[in-house]
Amino acid sequence: MIKNVRIIPGCIACKTCENICPQVFHIEGTSRVIGYDFEKYRQAVLRAERMCPVNVIKVDRDDTEAVAEAFAEATLIESRYLTRDVLALSFGVREFSAVAGQYVSVRLRDSDGEFVRSYSLVEFSAAQITLWVKILPDGRGGRVLSSLAAGDRVGISEALGHFVVAEPDIPHAFVATGTGLAPVIPMLRALPADTPKLVFFGVRTQADVFAADILSAIPNTRTIITCSRPSDAWSGERGRVTDHLQHITSDMHVSICGNPAMVDAVERTLTDRWHDRARILSERYVDQSADTLTPRSWIARIVWDGEIGTFVRVAHYVLLTLSAAVPFAWGYAPSLRGDLWDVSWYAVTLLMCIRPIGDLLPDVFLFRALLPLRQGLGILSSVVVATNAGFAYLPDFANFLTLYTSARMWGFETRLLFARLAEIVGIILLITSNSLSQRLLGKWWKRIQRLSYVYFFAAGIYLAHIGSDAAIPAMILVGALWIAAFVKNRRSS
Ligand SMILES: Cc1cc2nc3c(=O)[nH]c(=O)nc-3n(C[C@H](O)[C@H](O)[C@H](O)COP(=O)(O)OP(=O)(O)OC[C@H]3O[C@@H](n4cnc5c(N)ncnc54)[C@H](O)[C@@H]3O)c2cc1C
Ligand code: SF4
Repeated sequence: MIKNVRIIPGCIACKTCENICPQVFHIEGTSRVIGYDFEKYRQAVLRAERMCPVNVIKVDRDDTEAVAEAFAEATLIESRYLTRDVLALSFGVREFSAVAGQYVSVRLRDSDGEFVRSYSLVEFSAAQITLWVKILPDGRGGRVLSSLAAGDRVGISEALGHFVVAEPDIPHAFVATGTGLAPVIPMLRALPADTPKLVFFGVRTQADVFAADILSAIPNTRTIITCSRPSDAWSGERGRVTDHLQHITSDMHVSICGNPAMVDAVERTLTDRWHDRARILSERYVDQSADTLTPRSWIARIVWDGEIGTFVRVAHYVLLTLSAAVPFAWGYAPSLRGDLWDVSWYAVTLLMCIRPIGDLLPDVFLFRALLPLRQGLGILSSVVVATNAGFAYLPDFANFLTLYTSARMWGFETRLLFARLAEIVGIILLITSNSLSQRLLGKWWKRIQRLSYVYFFAAGIYLAHIGSDAAIPAMILVGALWIAAFVKNRRSS
């Protein structure tokens, strides 16, 4: 019997577990266990454990019942280079089935043991599949795959993923960089011939272009190939894929695939232009090298086997308990009110730092592991604001209305304007901080949560006005971290 399922720190959010068993695993930043009927989904849970590329799913079970094999045998038929570092591999398989756009997890073996990497299906039939693999200079998977000879065997999972064709009758745009083009090919082929298709394909140099002939043979398809570092001889488009997105119109379904920074940048650009979020589909080729055998930084090694996950959960509940205690402290211990404001401010500053530091130091798992803490920190800081507003205004509602409507507030006194702004936003954030709001608001929820920046800066300016020494340095620190993370993400996109 399966007694418990845990996700230890280091999840890279590749979504494999959620694709295999959405009833138990759900990705919110990183993977979380959301369902507890482990016995009902026993085989799927055990498959997810075996297919997790970074081995962070820990299943505690008190039986020795055999686990069904998660990988089928695949035999290499042929491999050939499409460019200097993109290798096309065809494998013979048995009774294979997939939907265009899906990927497989491939179990490989080297002198350090077995490990798993994911690759999208370029072509597939019941008897054969083709993958396009980028060979990175120190890539473990690429090293094994590029050294295979015809007849060698690897393990291949069932087809996985939800990156598949939707709304086939409306115009489609595809944005891909490098081998991110792999799932795009079968998706283009799966679309009706008369559906207009637009493909943005980003590579570094002219020598990195591949599959142009395949793309030009697909009916009704316009391809924009763009080189980020072209030579003078290159006559095509220049720049990153994000520089050409103006060709995407709001009636298009957009599928994006490739490195996560590029996918984030394209999603951001489109949603900032109010492209319907429901018409954007993404596949992120997340880095899967965070192997438990070879954690990559000394902090990673220290926290790797530690219970950072438990620490985060406990800290989250401590923050929720503190939040619940705020109204009582406010009402019964007036001397603590100033301290509560400080706590609120430090909580929101910490919240603001976690994501950019995580982006800047992706190898330091500690910061990724702290992502779930942001909800607790956000609740704590907005409870202080809401409590203050409630205690101050509800007993004297007329005065409250005057404050919100007076000319002093709307333009003559910056301090008041920012205090009120922080209050309004803090209350909205508090009301929407639960998962019910998240479900009800759908794509609007994330947009509303972005108000936390407004809250942070409005409250910071207010605190600076009333003499806080910490507010301005904290705002400068957070601003600098966000700019550095933005620049880094943009460079790697
Ligand atoms: C759903 C899914 C589908 C995927 N499909 C494909 C596919 O069709 N074709 C394909 O080539 N890859 C695909 N990937 C990525 C692939 O699984 C591997 O992560 C990638 O090929 C690197 O593996 P490796 O073992 O060769 O290198 P690793 O040993 O994992 O990494 C070697 C070094 O390169 C760095 N690194 C790893 N990934 C990247 C990257 N993307 N960019 C820059 N540096 C990196 C690592 O940090 C490390 O320092 C997919 C990933 C996912 C999650
Ligand atoms: S890394 Fe493992 S736990 Fe995280 S999403 Fe992928 S399969 Fe799930």
